[in-house]
Amino acid sequence: MKCMVENFAAVRTPHERSTLGPAAEGMSPVAQQPALPPDLFLHPSRLALFLDVDGTLAPFTARPEMSRIPCATRKLLKRLQSQGVALAVLSGRPLAQVRRLLHPVEIPIVGSHGGQLGLQPGRIVRSSPLLPSHLAGRLENGVSTLPGVWVEKKPGAVAVHWRQAPEVRWTIAELVQQAVQQAPGWAVMEGHCVHEIKAKGRHKGLGLRRLMNQPAFRGRWPLAVGDDRTDEDAFVAACGLGGAAIRIGEPAETHAPWQLPDVASLAIWLERQLRRIEVRRVSRSTQLITKHAGNGFGPKSKEGEYGTA
Ligand SMILES: [Mg+2]
Repeated sequence: MKCMVENFAAVRTPHERSTLGPAAEGMSPVAQQPALPPDLFLHPSRLALFLDVDGTLAPFTARPEMSRIPCATRKLLKRLQSQGVALAVLSGRPLAQVRRLLHPVEIPIVGSHGGQLGLQPGRIVRSSPLLPSHLAGRLENGVSTLPGVWVEKKPGAVAVHWRQAPEVRWTIAELVQQAVQQAPGWAVMEGHCVHEIKAKGRHKGLGLRRLMNQPAFRGRWPLAVGDDRTDEDAFVAACGLGGAAIRIGEPAETHAPWQLPDVASLAIWLERQLRRIEVRRVSRSTQLITKHAGNGFGPKSKEGEYGTA
């Protein structure tokens, strides 16, 4: 399926376009009015889903450590995986945190906005350089007098969270800009109530492309899903590979051709896609059983019951 981004270009003014910011490095933001995602007719062996965590699989909470991916959503991911859909998570969180949130679902994870890649449990590939030691200290000093603001050190990145103090957004923006000026090769990225400093060129789009080169994903149709500016790089990457993207949240400027309003509506949409896959399998199974019964053979195994797909 061809990406639909071009169809929505040039809807907003140049000033409005600039509000998307630098998340999609090297790409001009494309203003558009996303549509609801349609039902997919792809065979599960051709589909690759790249999912963000916060605001996409997990509802936002007062602090990131309070977040949970609902049990029903984890079961849904497991069932999609068992049907042959290739799944991965692209998150700004450290990889180990994402693995805990997904338990017991085991899928490839890109953590720290592309700074970490985990293809299997217990094995993490770091692709970001080490964070300059003075950066975190400088930020901690800068926020020490700001109630409700805290600094999170990550592998290859450092984040300043202001979710509980939205009035200091511009103070934090200035603080991180000043800090990064002393750190060549590092860049500021604004996410949902957070400013992060990360290595230039590391982002979720890079992670998506790396995974698409892995045997489990190669040749599949990529669909990226996320809620934030930091997901725009993944949207651009997925569309650039001939796939598509879904933005979660209120209408906003985005590269994603499709949009859903919230975490719950994404779970419902995924559940519907799963049912379509399962119904097609049952239908195929019935055809096979009828065919074998007509020839005097019954289904001999579970694999036979479900066909060869
Ligand atoms: Mg998010």
